[in-house]
Amino acid sequence: MIYDVLIAGAGVIGGMLAREMTKYRVSVCLLEKENDVACGASKANSGIIHGGFDPEPGTLKARLNVEGVSLLYEAARQLHVPYRNNGSIVVAFGKAEEQVLDTLYQRGRINGVEEMKLLSGEEVRRLEPSLSGEVTGALLVPSAGIICPYALTIAAVGNAMDNGAALKRNFDITEIEENNHVFTVTAADGRRVQGRYFVNCAGACAGRIAALAGDGFFDIIPRAGEYLLLDKSEGKTVSHTVFHTPTKNGKGVLVAPTVDGNLLTGPTAAVVDTPEDTRTTPQGLETVMRLAAKGVPSINFRKVITSFCGVRASEQNGDFIIEASTRVNGFIHVAAIDSPGLSSCVAIARCTADILRRCGLILEENPSWNGSREDTRAYRSMDEQEKEIYIKQHPEYGRIVCRCETVSEGEIVDAIRRNPPAFDVDGVKRRTRSGMGRCQGGFCLPYIMRLIAEENGIPFEQVTKKGGQSFLLAGGR
Ligand SMILES: Cc1cc2nc3c(=O)[nH]c(=O)nc-3n(C[C@H](O)[C@H](O)[C@H](O)COP(=O)(O)OP(=O)(O)OC[C@H]3O[C@@H](n4cnc5c(N)ncnc54)[C@H](O)[C@@H]3O)c2cc1C
Repeated sequence: MIYDVLIAGAGVIGGMLAREMTKYRVSVCLLEKENDVACGASKANSGIIHGGFDPEPGTLKARLNVEGVSLLYEAARQLHVPYRNNGSIVVAFGKAEEQVLDTLYQRGRINGVEEMKLLSGEEVRRLEPSLSGEVTGALLVPSAGIICPYALTIAAVGNAMDNGAALKRNFDITEIEENNHVFTVTAADGRRVQGRYFVNCAGACAGRIAALAGDGFFDIIPRAGEYLLLDKSEGKTVSHTVFHTPTKNGKGVLVAPTVDGNLLTGPTAAVVDTPEDTRTTPQGLETVMRLAAKGVPSINFRKVITSFCGVRASEQNGDFIIEASTRVNGFIHVAAIDSPGLSSCVAIARCTADILRRCGLILEENPSWNGSREDTRAYRSMDEQEKEIYIKQHPEYGRIVCRCETVSEGEIVDAIRRNPPAFDVDGVKRRTRSGMGRCQGGFCLPYIMRLIAEENGIPFEQVTKKGGQSFLLAGGR
């Protein structure tokens, strides 16, 4: 089969684009090198829906961020992805930083951000009592919010698949040939797919993919960001997302609640050699603790439950690259999607659909498109009466597998069965939160492995953490 549109990369951008494409009568196939979706920057970022005051006016980032916020809230509602419109504040320490706040405020107004407010130190501490006494002023941005980035990606891909999109996992693109307006794309294992249009949404690897197609005119600079995640007991330390004034390296270390009730601190910003370098380092994590504590001194870092690192796909000009290739017919670049890419994802998908249309793809409405996705029944969010009724009908919801996050067997089986199916332990974890609590999977791991093995009809010892050779067991004993 020759697909109408091939999309490289099943992160939040590729996923949202696939969903957007299914609104039309076109066939679409997502090509992803990992064993699951949401394995790149879309699984390891701050999860902030930025208001849009930070990007330089006139840039694609400024336009798509501001357009993207309300579109993202709407998509999250349709897809049943939890989000919270908690607002963000940028805090200043002293006169020089207060001037930066003024600049951000003016920039935000030019970009079209509504309802921003400049506050004094006292005013902002009334809103956020745990802020340092040294904070002298703040910019409040009520439209900002928080969302779980991998839940959003999984839901976007799942909804695209429910509407007919195909997903090829473990498809590591190594060759791209264009002939007579047909792309033939080959994976490392020799599999091939063909399509009429090719959209490059490969995140930090987008430079490599563009080069494979013969249009590698940009270089992606991988910039790592390290985080510390704290236990749910600390989740109410702040209610807004607290930023420091931005520097040339980014928005700086933030302190934010997560939609799941934890407290997040980070990220750092350090150029690394490869997009695959997601190590955390003692220096990086010390920097996170020092800078986070400057704004919010009461953070209890003894309650850290895990650390992680995500790699930004930066480019030297600082803006998103979303355009049709001038060298390769039908090839679209959606590259350098660093922050605020998550906030802009729906707007980026729409902008890319317009480019495809201008390149000749016929986009006729698909009358059977269904943009909403059924909500998964999370045991922990049901009240007692609901639990009783639901468990009577589905006894597997009465068996709790992950005690820290209260995840039932029913939810895990759903995660393995529904689009996009989870094939490994990390996939189940991202879909259900099993293994994300205090014990980090210490108790529930063998049970989850058994469910993955049974559902997929594979031996227990072949279950992996994240595909490939990441086997969890060395033998049968
Ligand atoms: C530390 C950090 C903090 C951030 N914070 C925020 C924030 O708070 N708010 C916000 O709006 N944005 C934020 N961002 C930006 C946001 O995370 C990204 O813009 C977004 O996730 C990019 O999505 P993507 O789909 O382009 O990339 P990715 O999620 O990286 O997806 C690209 C996919 O392409 C696949 N791929 C790569 N090479 C190949 C190949 N050869 N063959 C097949 N597939 C391939 C990868 O495996 C990957 O799954 C942050 C980013 C980072 C790293």
